[in-house]
Amino acid sequence: MRLRIRRPWRLLALGAAATLVVVLGSQWRAAIRRNRGTADEPFRIAGNLYYVGGAGVTSFLLTGPEGHVLIDGGFPETAPAIVASIAALGFDIHDVKVLLNTHAHADHAGGLSALQETSGAELWISEGDADVIESGGSGDPTLVPLKYVGFLGLGRFPAPRVDHRFEDGDTIRLGPLALTAHVTAGHTPGCTSWSFPVRDGDRELLAVDICSLTLLPFVSLVEPETYPGIRSDFERSFSTLRSLPADIFLASHASFFDMKRKLLERPDAENPVDPFIDRTGYVRFIDRAEERFHEVLAKQR
Ligand SMILES: [Zn+2]
Repeated sequence: MRLRIRRPWRLLALGAAATLVVVLGSQWRAAIRRNRGTADEPFRIAGNLYYVGGAGVTSFLLTGPEGHVLIDGGFPETAPAIVASIAALGFDIHDVKVLLNTHAHADHAGGLSALQETSGAELWISEGDADVIESGGSGDPTLVPLKYVGFLGLGRFPAPRVDHRFEDGDTIRLGPLALTAHVTAGHTPGCTSWSFPVRDGDRELLAVDICSLTLLPFVSLVEPETYPGIRSDFERSFSTLRSLPADIFLASHASFFDMKRKLLERPDAENPVDPFIDRTGYVRFIDRAEERFHEVLAKQR
């Protein structure tokens, strides 16, 4: 027997369902905004290197006598939390003179515009990601599904001003600070990993902030490639990163380098820096990403 629902009831049910979708949708969006605006507790990683990032999306502050360098800006909503974290550590946002970025995705580049405005810092972006950053995330070839729903504005962020463009191997200096750009492309065409010495007491440690080696959904490593050269870019990135003598392993997401576990290990460590000196974890991360790359490539061939 077919259940017959009278027309006025049908309309009422439809109206109630639509209201529910709108209410849940706005709550969901508010929850996302709250989460993006939350910061993890800021802390000193080693010497003049500090964590000032959001919840899981990282930002690092490297301090120096002639000004500070900030790597990554989180989501647009994360920028105020980053400013607050810098202040909580006793530093002044106006002393941030150089803004850097790992890659042109909204979770790492979203807050750059606000941070640039607040600090007055100059922004350096790789040649490969500069156009996408400057346009606030439009034309990103790596976010494949968004190509067809670009009109929805997904993946977009407030566009910062790109003050300088750099190439692979360039070193950006601010007083005694020196950060070398390694274009480890694939995740985006200009994905940049940063290596820099950190002065920790009487020793010098090399920190490496890995951009990302994640293969995004629907990415094609075979012809037609997601962007021309993505496969060889990834292959080069694995060997570039492996060649760096990293002591301190950092990355654009805290989970990539197990930040939470390392923080928990600190109280029992002889030196609180020790858990972050993790060459083994660094190499394991690259190995796993490379294995996954070959799995996906084998499936696509
Ligand atoms: Zn990304």
